[in-house]
Amino acid sequence: MYDYLIVGAGLYGATVARELTDAGKKVLVVERRGHIAGNAYTEQTEGINVHKYGAHIFHTNNREVWNYVNRFAEFNRYTNSPVANYRGKLFSLPFNMYTFHSMWGVVTPEEAAAKIAEQRGEITGEPKNLEEQAISLVGRDIYEALIKGYTEKQWGRPCDQLPAFIIRRLPVRLTFDNNYFNALFQGIPMGGYTGMVAKMLEGIEVRLGCDYLANREELDAMAEKVIYTGPIDAFYGFLLGTLGYRSVRFETEILDKPNFQGNAVVNYTDAETPWTRIIEHKWFEFGIRSDTGEPAEKTVISREYSSEWKPGDEPYYPVNDETNNALYAKYAELAAKEERVMMGGRLGNYRYYDMDQVIAEALCAARKCAE
Ligand code: UDP
Repeated sequence: MYDYLIVGAGLYGATVARELTDAGKKVLVVERRGHIAGNAYTEQTEGINVHKYGAHIFHTNNREVWNYVNRFAEFNRYTNSPVANYRGKLFSLPFNMYTFHSMWGVVTPEEAAAKIAEQRGEITGEPKNLEEQAISLVGRDIYEALIKGYTEKQWGRPCDQLPAFIIRRLPVRLTFDNNYFNALFQGIPMGGYTGMVAKMLEGIEVRLGCDYLANREELDAMAEKVIYTGPIDAFYGFLLGTLGYRSVRFETEILDKPNFQGNAVVNYTDAETPWTRIIEHKWFEFGIRSDTGEPAEKTVISREYSSEWKPGDEPYYPVNDETNNALYAKYAELAAKEERVMMGGRLGNYRYYDMDQVIAEALCAARKCAE
């Protein structure tokens, strides 16, 4: 008999598994997919660590979480600075003096601030949705070129029907600073996320290709308690209805050239290009092969296409609009009544968590369990 059955070998599952094991509990991790590390999973191709489920850049202001992940991997000095391609013209991201200079020709922070102030005038009162929030942060020109098309492709909904908080993830700066994150600590685990999660799970029993929801009775009978990190609506057999998720599809190619786009991430912000962004994986590790330490001669790129989740797809992003949040609240009420099951992670809590938030939540949950 196990003390805990942990459903999902992503960052939440791996963290609670590590912590509970170290606290003397007996745990079993089951994972539906054939690999660990959830959507942070990386796989080597041509010596390049390919982010199979999209770009994952670790960044945090939480010192405890940073120290924690550094126990399992050495992090490189990668700093995310995506480039936006709008109809062939390039802009710096996040929104900063380089962006404002390219857009308006402004040179000083005062000139940029004046331009934004002039354009944000059309929004009065508290921004009610993503569109109003975006215009109020950076003005209409940048909204139209760099936000509207990208966001509507990414979320499959008009910007005035999306929550404002999504665009507040991005910094706006009156300095020449292309760092996409306001975080004290940032980097990518050298050798890839899979290696880091494998280290977290060292000495822990993990069953891959084991679908909890399809083998529930048998698995439930094996442990005192269950920690579930899958979608909460699926846990309840969609009893109250289905929550909305966005899924992502990747078209990955190996190219026989050393450099395709000169940057790890290029966003295509117009409405016409069908993909949202292209990732060139080698630049997460400065073009150096993980296996030999030599410069990679080839390159691997992934075009990323966003779609509404349907059964059979991998869920990536919760769509936290009012309808979905209200439905989630009802599922959360059910979950709160569970005596032997706990839910966690991006899917279990239906929140747009970053990796560091997932780990912080997991550390907190594991502490409670170990009490
Ligand atoms: N966003 C945008 N233009 C960009 C990049 C991001 O409008 O070039 C918006 C878009 O709505 C996106 C949100 O900002 O969903 C958050 O972006 P982030 O890069 O944090 O998304 P993630 O990497 O999690 O997909």
